[in-house]
Amino acid sequence: NHQILLDNRPTGEASTSNFKLVKNELPELKANQVLVRHDFLSLDPYMRGRMNDSKSYAVPQALGQVMGGGTVGQVLDSRSDKFHPGDKVVGMGGWQEYSIVDATQVGALRKVDTTHVALSHYLGAVGMPGVTAWYGLVKIIDPKAGQTLLVSAATGAVGSAFAALSKARGCRTVGIAGGPEKCAYAVNELGFDACVDYKLYQDAASLSAAIKLACPDGVDGYYENVGSMVLNAVMPCLNAFASIALCGMIAGYDGKPVPMSNPSLMLLSRLKIQGFIVSEHMDIWPEALAELGQLVATGKLKPRETVAMGLASAPEAFLGLLKGKNFGKQLVKLG
Ligand code: NDP
Repeated sequence: NHQILLDNRPTGEASTSNFKLVKNELPELKANQVLVRHDFLSLDPYMRGRMNDSKSYAVPQALGQVMGGGTVGQVLDSRSDKFHPGDKVVGMGGWQEYSIVDATQVGALRKVDTTHVALSHYLGAVGMPGVTAWYGLVKIIDPKAGQTLLVSAATGAVGSAFAALSKARGCRTVGIAGGPEKCAYAVNELGFDACVDYKLYQDAASLSAAIKLACPDGVDGYYENVGSMVLNAVMPCLNAFASIALCGMIAGYDGKPVPMSNPSLMLLSRLKIQGFIVSEHMDIWPEALAELGQLVATGKLKPRETVAMGLASAPEAFLGLLKGKNFGKQLVKLG
């Protein structure tokens, strides 16, 4: 079983030297254990926070241990009556080829139906990132039809699910993304009404002017994934009593500061700002997954994936995700 461990913590930017590839023998299965072969690993921005030993929205990853993370795969062997060889499953198997899961642990392994939804999408649109989009939209922004909603990192795993959910609620949906290719994809494939390429602008004021053009009625709800210049540009575009679902601030994950230039706008615009961590809201997952599964199964949400090949490619692909090199959900395919 090849595995990737966190070998040492980054000082400043993360690098491939923080990780170590090792090989271990798989132990014999004990009672209630299930052996899973991973078909895909999920790479997610939160993993960068876990590489540090400081406060983050996820507990620190232990040194010398397999990098944690979502996985989808197939049951190969089972000593539990809840799972059988051939079952397609989602779990938290981490950066390794196989995992052994205790089937008595609630939620550790979940069977999924791949008749209408591809297995890999259970790590993206019909998985944690999709539910994240759903929570911020439904529980924090709580939009009304006809309102204008804006999302940053618009073509990513969370942003693309947000677009489909927002359009389903009759909202004008505008994205912010990096580069002409991502913006064209947002409008042509993801159903965004408009998309602003933040890379065309050198400062928050000029980006803000471009957002105002794309949102002529102002912004009623903003779904924040990035922070820094993007947030500073959005703030003056928000309508009175607008909401911000504060989901992520990826611009700061690799050590850069994410200053807020004009906090007084929170007061002047009477904003509601709510941060959240999706894993603390397990009660809404079934409802969210049902809607997301429906959107994917009916082709209303066609999630794009960037797939790195082989376990050894995970560190490089992960570092690329932190620099926006991914286009849609970043995965690693094994086997
Ligand atoms: P994505 O698939 O969106 O990938 C990350 C994207 O961030 C990049 O592709 C890039 O897109 C964009 N980005 C924008 N600015 C920067 C920057 N300065 N540096 C690097 N990347 C940048 O990731 P996810 O959809 O998985 O996650 C989106 C956000 O949601 C993240 O902030 C993540 O932490 C957060 N999240 C929060 C959760 C919670 O519970 N609160 C749970 C899951 C995710 P572009 O090229 O368009 O700039």
